[in-house]
Amino acid sequence: MVNRDATRRWTKRLFDPLLGKRRVEQCGLRTYDLRRPGGRRRFHLRSNADGSAVLLIDATDAIHLNPTAALLARLAFDGVPVERAAAALRRQFRGVSAAQARSDAERIYALVERLTDATDRCPTCTITSAAEAMVKWQPPFSVPISAPYKADLALTYDCNNNCRHCYNQCPRPRAAARSAEPVGSPLKKLVSESSGATAGLSGSASGISPKHTAGQAGSGTLFQQAGGSSTLSTKQWYQVLDRLAAVGVPHIIYTGGEPTLFDSLPDLIRRAADLGLVSGLNTNGRRLSDAGYVESLRSAGLDHVQITLQSDDRAVHNAMCGAAAFDETVRGLKNSLAADLHAITNTTLTRRNIGQAGRLVDFLHDLGLTVFAMNGMIFAGGGLNCGDEIGVEELAPVLADVRDRAAQRRMRFLWYTPTEYCRLSPVELELGPRRCNAGEYSICIEPNGDVIPCQSYYVPVGNILRDSWPTIWESALFRRFRNRGADPRAAGLPAPCWECPDLPLCGGGCPLEQDHRRSVSTTARESKQAEMRQTEPSVHA
Ligand code: SF4
Ligand code: SF4
Repeated sequence: MVNRDATRRWTKRLFDPLLGKRRVEQCGLRTYDLRRPGGRRRFHLRSNADGSAVLLIDATDAIHLNPTAALLARLAFDGVPVERAAAALRRQFRGVSAAQARSDAERIYALVERLTDATDRCPTCTITSAAEAMVKWQPPFSVPISAPYKADLALTYDCNNNCRHCYNQCPRPRAAARSAEPVGSPLKKLVSESSGATAGLSGSASGISPKHTAGQAGSGTLFQQAGGSSTLSTKQWYQVLDRLAAVGVPHIIYTGGEPTLFDSLPDLIRRAADLGLVSGLNTNGRRLSDAGYVESLRSAGLDHVQITLQSDDRAVHNAMCGAAAFDETVRGLKNSLAADLHAITNTTLTRRNIGQAGRLVDFLHDLGLTVFAMNGMIFAGGGLNCGDEIGVEELAPVLADVRDRAAQRRMRFLWYTPTEYCRLSPVELELGPRRCNAGEYSICIEPNGDVIPCQSYYVPVGNILRDSWPTIWESALFRRFRNRGADPRAAGLPAPCWECPDLPLCGGGCPLEQDHRRSVSTTARESKQAEMRQTEPSVHA
């Protein structure tokens, strides 16, 4: 039963400058920023060529709309009265009766009304059977998309910490461009074939980021930057943001290296806000110990911040970060919370801090956090050789303990690492499904504008300022990432995955970890063979 009064109230509210702020961009992505007494909620409506659309709520929940629902949702958000929306529907879709058009319009308007209720903590729970026929709440990874939902911008690879397990490797051997290799096995080979083929915008650069190099061996062609400079200029980053908005990417994460070392960060956040994009910051938090700097980010439009905190123990955190960082990081966290930024922490669980994971939850709770995240080792850069990784057998009980402690304290625990479900299932651990979404829901832009699937997978498929979006999005590597579920064999996944019922949600785990395990077992096999050769009597002796 449609509540027409509610529909009218909603339309009125959209035009009320005190309650709702409406913004429509000219760049392929419609943004609606609604501020209500119950809170703020942002919507991004991204249209597809066939008239269907995806509606993103606070850049996290996605609802797929058929062409009819897409048109009606746009009109509802634009504040067009429901009668006129029904008439527009009939003009666009011939053969629709007046009664049907009115009924469809009222259903979608009522849905939009409910979605905008910022006091409702689960907006997609409001999708009822009344609108289900027009609105698809699809399982993750089941609907092809035309651009990712999120882009990580690695503004610089400079860093004021020096974590031994850091997944960044700078200077770095450079992978051959435009890989045709399966996602499950490319990195080592590509790195060894390094040719520096994506040398940035000028194609002839040789600048190298001066980031930490201790313990991170680099060989072959070093990381090359645009035009010989260490990063894109602020003006070029503006162009990157414009480009991402134009193809419909609603969510930007500033990362690195350490992104707060990039002086123009507040300017980039402001530009993204002007484009209607949601901005997040992944940082070690040290520069946030300056409350004035936090305020400059907040007032520029920063929406959320994630601060890496490895332990509540100063000595352990500092040892893992390779710097005396703990006090600044904790102060940065407190400043972020005081500035009313949505702040969370992330912790990489390694052999050095696993024993303190439980008590870290208490520490974060006492600081006032309501959400925190953890991840396992990422097998790239320092993570390949530091030897601090933890096996899944050891990890599972720790995650269960952290989960239970978080629940007792009414905190939300996010587990980031996409493990192989047959070894450690996040679903069975009640942590929710986790699957690698690189090259699909998420991409990374390097300091020189090169586009890679994720921050740890150093294989560029093009340059965001130089190459067309279809060239990047439809590159062989990105397509293989996206097609893992449909064609696991071509994607390089091992035979047990091919017919596995868990494949759609598991995706075979992290390809970097698979690659690492293969290389470790190959190395072990080779050394065993060498050992046997040494002990075998030679037939030619
Ligand atoms: S898809 Fe592969 S990695 Fe995932 S559970 Fe199945 S067999 Fe294991
Ligand atoms: S390849 Fe996928 S799972 Fe592995 S680190 Fe990158 S995003 Fe995460």
